[in-house]
Amino acid sequence: MIDVSAIGKKIVETINKIDENEKERSCGQIIYSGDGIIRIAGLRDVRYNELLEVRGGYHALALNLEEDCVGAVVFSGEDKISYGDLVYSTGKTVQMKVGEELLGRIVNPLGDPMDGLAPLQTQKTRPVEYPAPSIMERGKVNKPLQTGILAIDSMIPIGRGQRELIIGDRQTGKTAIAVDTILNQKGENVICIYVSIGQKASSLAKIITTLRNAGAMAYTCVVCSTADDAVPLQYLAPYSGCALAEYFMYQGKDVLIVYDDLSKHAVAYRTMSLLLKRPAGREAYPGDVFYLHSRLLERSAKLSEQSGGGSITALPIVETLAGDISAYIPTNVISITDGQIYLENELFNSGVRPAVNVGLSVSRVGGSAQRPAIRQISGQLRVNLAQYRELAIFMQFGSDLDSETQKSLSRGAKMTDTLKQRQYLNYSVQDMVILLIISQSDLVDKIPEKKMTAFCEGLLDYIHVNQADLSASIDPDQKVSDSLRQTILKVAEDYINCSMGDDAEACSAAGAGSAVGAV
Ligand code: ATP
Ligand code: MG
Repeated sequence: MIDVSAIGKKIVETINKIDENEKERSCGQIIYSGDGIIRIAGLRDVRYNELLEVRGGYHALALNLEEDCVGAVVFSGEDKISYGDLVYSTGKTVQMKVGEELLGRIVNPLGDPMDGLAPLQTQKTRPVEYPAPSIMERGKVNKPLQTGILAIDSMIPIGRGQRELIIGDRQTGKTAIAVDTILNQKGENVICIYVSIGQKASSLAKIITTLRNAGAMAYTCVVCSTADDAVPLQYLAPYSGCALAEYFMYQGKDVLIVYDDLSKHAVAYRTMSLLLKRPAGREAYPGDVFYLHSRLLERSAKLSEQSGGGSITALPIVETLAGDISAYIPTNVISITDGQIYLENELFNSGVRPAVNVGLSVSRVGGSAQRPAIRQISGQLRVNLAQYRELAIFMQFGSDLDSETQKSLSRGAKMTDTLKQRQYLNYSVQDMVILLIISQSDLVDKIPEKKMTAFCEGLLDYIHVNQADLSASIDPDQKVSDSLRQTILKVAEDYINCSMGDDAEACSAAGAGSAVGAV
């Protein structure tokens, strides 16, 4: 027997359900499709930045709300979408998948895994665009974020919740600084997010391999968009990364996020805007390109204790052309961030790596978060280096130098050599204290020219092996006492005598390492 009434009931139920869905979804038709842009006629009640659904399962983002049509950019399948296709509104903005599960994974800006591993199980999402924390929600930046790079931690300290720009020409070690900083967060309870925007896939693969080999993926998520990804995905990547960072920040955790790099982000936005036929302004960027980056970077914050105390530290990267930091995008981002690390091509090529230009680099809020021990001994460093540079420029024309000037020049050169640091060689705070004390003492006069970098590495090896107690006795949160300073100098002097004297072999046998021979 067929139960007609039950079938009738089911039909009515289904129709009611369809009605409910359709009430929220308006529908329109594509009247133009090309270059990843679609124009839709007849689509009503669409909001700016709303996610649209194109027939066939593709997604688009509504960006231009015009009188007779809606302009949108498609995320994928632009070659499959054609004139006349139906487009539905969704009533939602773009969402990014979030959760602890994303740590150790490589995802695209929509939260889909790109590493070929298992699909993500998380049901949690966050909108990619979200208002920045208000003034009352924010706290003071008071905890340091150690990069492990001596030149930065001593002179341009970064605090948790700060936004510090890394700026420089191509191939000057910008990414290297960001990656070293991520590696240095091992055991520091900081979650790291690396956002790649429009980079070459090969460079990105290299970075991911580095992070994997160093065991840093355990606390890192990579949000990737490569140069061959659709422009809207490149545009979305930093906002998606930031949404993930916010998920952790609002749980009271500390997060470090790297945007590599925002110049390519601005270019992606420019491409979209020009294709959408928005008016072009300076350097052909649209008028709201400042807002593009300010709304992103303002979301990095240190929350007050009442709001949970979490933080997002942002390291945006911007590439300059021929060192021109007064171009449009560099000046914009410089004015948004709390300081910049300026990397210089000439320094990089002359072997000063990391190629930090100390004169043009600043940290506007990190000073109050600097470790007291380092703050105490690095106070004069910046001034001394500036004086050395001035003297060096002046003296390159002179031939006869008095002994006092020669000594100053030699000391300055050795100071610069101390700040040279290999990639992936991160110093602990104790190591930094030791190097800073020695490089500013009279002891440096005993070290031959050009051997300073090798001496520093050798000395640290020696101390790690033979003088572990000395390292342990340095408390980064206390000022360095006079007696401790004397002990450090004594150990360094012993090492110099030992490595430069006749008993070099004996010292080397004691564990001073290979660098002894170099001194
Ligand atoms: P791009 O503009 O292509 O993104 P970049 O400015 O990010 O370049 P990196 O890729 O970080 O530069 O570095 C450029 C090269 O310099 C790399 O081969 C890297 O290994 C080398 N390098 C970076 N930092 C150091 C360092 N401290 N010591 C030695 N080599 C370094
Ligand atoms: Mg790079």
